[in-house]
Amino acid sequence: KLDASLIRADFPILGRQVYSGVPLVYLDSAATSQKPNAVIDAMDRYYRTSNANIHRGIHVLAEEATGLYEAARKTIAGFIGARTPSELIFTRNTTESINLVAASWGRKNLKAGDVIILTEMEHHSNLVPWQMLAAELNLRLEYIPGTPEGLLDLSVYQQLLELSPRMVAFTQVSNVLGTINPAKEIIRMAHSVGAVTLVDGAQSVPHIPVNVMDLNVDFLAFSAHKMVGPTGIGALYGKEKLLESMPPYMGGGDMIKKVLLRSFVPNELPHKFEAGTPAIAEAIGFAEAATYLYSQGMENIAAHEHDIAEYALKKISQVDGVRIIGPGADQKGSVFSFTMAGIHPHDVSQILDRRGIAVRAGHHCAMPLHEKFKLPATTRASFYIYNSLEDVDTLVEGLAEVRKIFE
Ligand code: PLP
Repeated sequence: KLDASLIRADFPILGRQVYSGVPLVYLDSAATSQKPNAVIDAMDRYYRTSNANIHRGIHVLAEEATGLYEAARKTIAGFIGARTPSELIFTRNTTESINLVAASWGRKNLKAGDVIILTEMEHHSNLVPWQMLAAELNLRLEYIPGTPEGLLDLSVYQQLLELSPRMVAFTQVSNVLGTINPAKEIIRMAHSVGAVTLVDGAQSVPHIPVNVMDLNVDFLAFSAHKMVGPTGIGALYGKEKLLESMPPYMGGGDMIKKVLLRSFVPNELPHKFEAGTPAIAEAIGFAEAATYLYSQGMENIAAHEHDIAEYALKKISQVDGVRIIGPGADQKGSVFSFTMAGIHPHDVSQILDRRGIAVRAGHHCAMPLHEKFKLPATTRASFYIYNSLEDVDTLVEGLAEVRKIFE
């Protein structure tokens, strides 16, 4: 079993106080997670000892940097169960990974009238790239609706599949509702009609075991910063055959084998999709983050967050006037978006902040989902490996105070 108090000690920022003497209770990990010493030290060590540009130099530092960067790719590919490291492309984040697929795979394979299926619970980063492509190519976007409980309506999905979609792109875990979608089943159904699949793993890869071979997913997008790694780096997994068939996304150094004045020959995978100097220190930090999570055990992390979900759902909903949106603990990660009757989410967050409790207020980059629930905004508390049941209690005490102030 995972011991959150031991884990907390690995994260220096969690020891700080805010507002003269108030200890920090960080409940905003769905936005970005905190970083353990192992990640901070690995990046620091790289800059102190091995910093150089990669893939080009013949000197010691360049070789060390290249070795560390490619070893990082291998570690992260292994973490998600990819068949080979060349199926793992480094990007800036989940957003860039999805844009890469929309622009490269989409432009090459789609034509006017083609159908793309998304869901009503997507983050803007899995909506807008497809909307942009749809406007450019005259595509048709269809949506798997959400139920009032915050689940996907798979019977409507079954009907939508009769439109022979070319792509089904969906989030594995909702960043608002916390819903853990049945990804394997959604992918199996998509493949049965010949559609390609993309999973937005921004909120799943950090929190539950994700294995691309087991899911049989075609593309998986995720970000390092939500899984105890640094900002500025993310990844796109793609099946080798698909990636091989796709044109480069951006042009420049490193992504080419040969350049003439009027033409170029693209490089091999994965370099074909990594134009320019990449985020080298961040890749090293990313791998260290994956190693850290692996050493805790993804099953243990998921079980820990399930315990938090059960406890928090019970405790938070006991606060007067609180309504949590999203399903029950068995279908949910440790993300809780809620409203308090008569109190604006920004006021809730501000009062909690005075007690050192960091939560988020707004639409959480999921405006259509909030529209669906007829809510302009919610307050969101999101938990991770370093949070404990006591943090839930602290939140609930804070909410009780919010209620008192407004009475
Ligand atoms: N998808 C989901 C479900 C998210 O929660 C987020 C971030 O909040 C993203 C995509 C975008 O991630 P990034 O900003 O790292 O690209």
